[in-house]
Amino acid sequence: MKSDVQVAVIGGGIVGVSVLYWLAKLGWTDSVLLERRELTSGSTWHAAGNTTYFGPYPKMTALFAGSIRTYLQAEKETGQSVGFHKTGSLRLAASERELELFHVYAPRYANLGIPFHIRSPEEVSGLHPFIDTGSIHGAAHTPTDGHVDPTGATNALAQAARNLGSSIERHCPVGAISKSAGKWWIETSSGAVTAEHVVVATSFWAREMLAPLGLNLPLYPTQHHEIITESLPQVAALDTELPAMRDSWVSCNVRQERDGLLIGIYEREPEFWALDGIPPDFKEELLPPNLDPLMPHLERLMERMPLFAEAGIKVANNGPMCFTPDGLPLIGPLPQMDGLWLAAGFNVGIGTGGGSAEILAKWMTTGQPPSGLDAIHADRFGTRIDRESALSSIRDVYARGYHLPDSI
Ligand SMILES: Cc1cc2nc3c(=O)[nH]c(=O)nc-3n(C[C@H](O)[C@H](O)[C@H](O)COP(=O)(O)OP(=O)(O)OC[C@H]3O[C@@H](n4cnc5c(N)ncnc54)[C@H](O)[C@@H]3O)c2cc1C
Repeated sequence: MKSDVQVAVIGGGIVGVSVLYWLAKLGWTDSVLLERRELTSGSTWHAAGNTTYFGPYPKMTALFAGSIRTYLQAEKETGQSVGFHKTGSLRLAASERELELFHVYAPRYANLGIPFHIRSPEEVSGLHPFIDTGSIHGAAHTPTDGHVDPTGATNALAQAARNLGSSIERHCPVGAISKSAGKWWIETSSGAVTAEHVVVATSFWAREMLAPLGLNLPLYPTQHHEIITESLPQVAALDTELPAMRDSWVSCNVRQERDGLLIGIYEREPEFWALDGIPPDFKEELLPPNLDPLMPHLERLMERMPLFAEAGIKVANNGPMCFTPDGLPLIGPLPQMDGLWLAAGFNVGIGTGGGSAEILAKWMTTGQPPSGLDAIHADRFGTRIDRESALSSIRDVYARGYHLPDSI
């Protein structure tokens, strides 16, 4: 194992591996990634892999677009598939107001060079035969996004980074981190590593990991469900894969998974997990599913997509997922901690991980912060946000799910 490096990245989920990859692309290959267990063993392995370009904030859309670009680039470089399905997405207009907002967003997509069309309810039926368009006002259609295989993408990025000269150490849990004689000291189960820069990409583990340094980071795990149905003959009979659908009225996303449907739900009363500490023996595990709070949403989905009412549920996965009080990740240097960087708090880390890593790696290698991205800066909450107000904001932002901001 390399024991003295320019950069140590801690955490081998999609985010940490993307950071290692982008640092290597920009010439910083004297680096090692330290992962407690296997790559993807946190939230990444069980994610649905959705990555949509739709959103009210162009800078965030650019992160989504940068992520798909990053994953496809790693696929090309290694020959390892990232499992990208270019299905496109339909963001339904559940109200006249949402449709108005879509018209406001359209020129922003043109500026980013991302195809964005506003579809009538009739056109939505043509694109997605299972949506009941009777009560929608149309949809925003982003035809070039879709979903990737999160594990495949992580592995391709890891291989591409290794090919460029970076190292990855699995089964190498990090303990204490400290600074001494101008270097960061990272204690691991295989000995100490010293580094000029450390990137902490350990998702909801980052809070406990950095608390001994006096940092109080509002990173907490929520529970999040995805439901996969049994095969449906109507889906099996399709010639092309369905576009993903997102709907604020149901507060869910639905995409095709083989010949069935995969549904992700943002319920009104989200549950947290392990608030008093992540169990030290937590492995590649799911949490016990709790379908009751999801029922009102599933009932609405039966109205929006009557085919769902005919589907048996094959599996309900409940996994932990990291959230911040405003739902955006914490990216960048930590104040008064020269050389300590954060890339954590991703709740759509597959969608935004690759693009965020590119931004962070450019920031690290040039010393120049990205412009116009204050919304994701690592230090934006300061250190005094107390647990109760952080949890209350997270509850609120999670429950609002696909709600669009009123200000345009
Ligand atoms: C059911 C479900 C569905 C989802 N679907 C989507 C989706 O469709 N699209 C999307 O964009 N997002 C989705 N997500 C969210 C997505 O899974 C996360 O945003 C993403 O995986 C976060 O990646 P990460 O690299 O930040 O964290 P993780 O994947 O959790 O990686 C953190 C890593 O740090 C390691 N680590 C922790 N402590 C240490 C230590 N002490 N030493 C060394 N290593 C350590 C862990 O082992 C882990 O591998 C979903 C989440 C859930 C629960």
